[in-house]
Amino acid sequence: MTTQTPSRPLTGRVAVVTGASSGIGEASAEHLAELGARVVVLARRAERLDALVARIEKNGGQALALAVDVTDAAAVRTAADRVAAELGGADLLLNNAGVMHFGPIEERARAHGQSQIDLNITGLTNAIAAFTPQLVNAAAERGVADLVSTSSIAAQSVVPGFAVYAGTKAYVSHLSRNLRAELGAKKVRVSVIEPGLVDTELQNHVADAGARAFLESSKEMLEWLEPQDVARTVGFLASLPPRVNLPQVTVMPTGQPG
Ligand code: NDP
Repeated sequence: MTTQTPSRPLTGRVAVVTGASSGIGEASAEHLAELGARVVVLARRAERLDALVARIEKNGGQALALAVDVTDAAAVRTAADRVAAELGGADLLLNNAGVMHFGPIEERARAHGQSQIDLNITGLTNAIAAFTPQLVNAAAERGVADLVSTSSIAAQSVVPGFAVYAGTKAYVSHLSRNLRAELGAKKVRVSVIEPGLVDTELQNHVADAGARAFLESSKEMLEWLEPQDVARTVGFLASLPPRVNLPQVTVMPTGQPG
């Protein structure tokens, strides 16, 4: 095994990233690979994952693509079994796949509300259930593992029309606080990242034209984060000495008030 160096502090580690076919997950997978980790990239769009793996490998990294719908608990368990068999198990999970919809609760709650709950809550919890045993094993063997989840500043804010999305993200943040109390003693660092506006495909899924126009127009007033900004935060968390855990990190565009 190659040894860790200051520029490759994650050498020897195995990172699983959900929602890796675009945006924050894609950028994080690339960055974690640059830092030396072998990365496993999960999402539904296989061709996007294959292109990401090819890019990582071209840059000298190692990656494995697993096309998985994380709302399917059995499929996530099968993916975890493959990670155990092929890479010896994960010691970092970036639980990041998510979707955001907008709509007054009485109009959109059923369709969009449920799909957000299915992915942002159930999908995220499926990945935790499938990979946490590997994280605990890795931490016992090597002294550290990381469970990092992507929440949102929406977990702390109140914006009419985003109630279900904000509720799902509050779940991610509070679940993480509670899991930290459970897993910290087992040397698994639990962190939640709450980004503000990041320029990704997330906003493309907002069907409401007015809400999309509002989001788009905010780009004229403030500079949004790039996915790489959040990716660097993930890399920073994971590269800290095992005794250091940042439980909750809010990453905001400088000009976004709240
Ligand atoms: P993207 O839309 O670019 O990425 C979402 C990712 O989730 C994609 O890779 C998508 O891949 C994956 N995904 C969607 N559904 C599933 C599924 N059923 N199973 C597996 N993967 C799935 O958006 P972001 O990068 O912005 O979003 C990443 C996270 O960041 C989300 O949790 C989001 O809530 C959060 N966030 C984003 C902010 C922003 O402003 N962009 C701000 C705060 C938080 P595929 O379609 O191939 O399955």
